[in-house]
Amino acid sequence: MSTHSLVARPTADGGFEGRYVHADAYPDHQIPLLLAARQYRFAENEAALTSHLIDEHPAGWDYLGADLALADTTPLWVAEFLIANGNEESSCMCHDWDEALVQPPMTDGDAVTRDDLPWVYVLRPQGLEVISAERDPQDLRGLVLPWSTDPSEHFTEARFQTWRPSSPRPARTPRLSPPAAATTVTIITKRPRTR
Ligand SMILES: [Zn+2]
Repeated sequence: MSTHSLVARPTADGGFEGRYVHADAYPDHQIPLLLAARQYRFAENEAALTSHLIDEHPAGWDYLGADLALADTTPLWVAEFLIANGNEESSCMCHDWDEALVQPPMTDGDAVTRDDLPWVYVLRPQGLEVISAERDPQDLRGLVLPWSTDPSEHFTEARFQTWRPSSPRPARTPRLSPPAAATTVTIITKRPRTR
């Protein structure tokens, strides 16, 4: 079964918003890609990376691939590791699929109400926050990995599922946005998944 996720950026009200990623979004696949993308292809340019992931592909992603992190500056061993670790080319629903609909960004409110987003990755200035949404759906916080983390580390699911916050939950009521009715894989009418 596909592992779905949300790749997001923080919002001013303390929440987050981002794009749905349909497949292969478990930590051991997604974290190396996001770390290496920031370190190499996007050269620490946070705005460029979040814009690419969130603004430029408004129907969301089928999956993220090694191309997200590949550039002339990417060390060969990192490139080889990422390619061996999953798909080589990313696939988005807006450009690579027919009839996919542009979506409003999915928010922390969506992550609270939906039960099909086990993982949320929030790109924060200080690092990549990895949230296991099943840990506590009412308290969507997770371990923040510094951006300098070695992408080839082994990122077990248990590491993030067993993490616990050291401070009380901030007194903020998550926005309960209306259900994102159009955010569904049934809009896909073409091209079977390759993996
Ligand atoms: Zn696209």
